[in-house]
Amino acid sequence: MPVSGLPPYDDANIFARMLRGEIPCNKVYEDDWALAFHDIHPQAPTHVLVIPKGRYCSFADFAAGASEAEIAGFMRAVGKIARDLGLEALGYRLLANMGADSGQEVAHFHVHLFAGRKLGRMLAST
Ligand code: AMP
Repeated sequence: MPVSGLPPYDDANIFARMLRGEIPCNKVYEDDWALAFHDIHPQAPTHVLVIPKGRYCSFADFAAGASEAEIAGFMRAVGKIARDLGLEALGYRLLANMGADSGQEVAHFHVHLFAGRKLGRMLAST
């Protein structure tokens, strides 16, 4: 079920529960700013989700409300994860859904990191 991506933030969302250690995730990386884990329904050979540690509903919320340190720390983490996974030589795609038309389902900002095959067109035709 798509979400609006707008506040208020719901602390019961599944990624918030992962950050609190209440449910497990298949962790790839963690630092002060970000947690990364494998998507449970991968759409490419590599499909990693990167989430900030802060309480942000979506990209819109993060861009408007996060501090410069949070934004820099998060973006550096995304780049490091891709580099450490060895994805830079053949390339990768980043995607962040925001709101109903995008199909965002989890109301905690996350970036999808796809790689491992030719990724095709940027958008589906439907
Ligand atoms: P989005 O549609 O952009 O909100 O993406 C949400 C993503 O979260 C989907 O790709 C789901 O497969 C993924 N997801 C949902 N629950 C879990 C989970 N428990 N562990 C890992 N990934 C999950």
